[in-house]
Amino acid sequence: MVETKIIDGKQIAKEFREKLAKRVQKLGSTPKLAVLVVGEHPASQIYVQNKKKAADSVGINVDIYQMSATENEENILKLIAELNESKEVDGILLQLPVPAHLNAETLIGAIKPEKDVDGLHPQNVGNMVSGLPAMISCTPLGCLYLLKQVLPSMTGMHAVVVGRSALVGKPLAQLLLQEDCTVTQAHSKTRNLADLTKQADILVCAVGKPGLITGDMIKPGAVVIDVGINRLDNGKIVGDTLFLEMLGKASYITPVPGGVGPMTIAMLLWNVIKAAEGHYSDCKDLILK
Ligand code: NAD
Repeated sequence: MVETKIIDGKQIAKEFREKLAKRVQKLGSTPKLAVLVVGEHPASQIYVQNKKKAADSVGINVDIYQMSATENEENILKLIAELNESKEVDGILLQLPVPAHLNAETLIGAIKPEKDVDGLHPQNVGNMVSGLPAMISCTPLGCLYLLKQVLPSMTGMHAVVVGRSALVGKPLAQLLLQEDCTVTQAHSKTRNLADLTKQADILVCAVGKPGLITGDMIKPGAVVIDVGINRLDNGKIVGDTLFLEMLGKASYITPVPGGVGPMTIAMLLWNVIKAAEGHYSDCKDLILK
């Protein structure tokens, strides 16, 4: 029986934000993030308010550009062009998802890469894969930061990343590769998922299916990062792993809620500060001494 420790993402993110607040003070100016919201998707409204609250706490200003669900692409592109040129705006974030009549790739591609604090612009993705300085998407960065709290070195460890989205799974697999892990990426077409997950020293699950990972699917002592956010019929929020079954098997696990979520927002703030400082995010600078 393994003693399982909980990785307290809420507390770690709080301490990280305190470091960020000091970094903002050193800047001598107030960083600004522009958030573009198209439509009134209820979850998006909550996410945006959470981002604003966290930004306020470290001294970052947030301008929210709330647009109607029918806003046309041309107008949004015009706004992005203005924000790209504005000397006052350090970061631009398009809240996803956008309504079906819009093409998210076109809009993200219009954001200046150095202001793309979500790290989704193709130039940033390409730079990140090449190991060049880049804005890196916030959830993978948050996962990496949490892993670094409990694993000073990941060299040679087998990391299994379940999920291959552009937002989470793919960039995280790249970051783990850069940490010298041996990386396996699993997805919806993977055969015999359990055979792979049982080999993982580090198991990351970013799928969005409650109960996908059961206790018998993990290697004793594995570090488990649960990215999934799922709302059950009873209103409870859970991850992709059966949390209770992880206890006594995993050495560390992130809870849902209170694990990766708070770190994702903290990393957004980090990207805004790096943009305001005039240079790209650098993972190796994440420890913020
Ligand atoms: P997505 O739907 O874009 O991708 C899901 C991935 O899971 C796909 O790559 C798919 O191939 C894979 N998948 C689907 N069924 C599978 C199966 N049975 N076995 C293995 N793989 C399977 O989702 P996403 O944007 O990557 O988000 C994934 C989850 O993480 C969601 O629950 C989302 O809400 C959550 N999320 C959390 C945060 C956070 O801050 N905590 C941030 C982003 C996303």
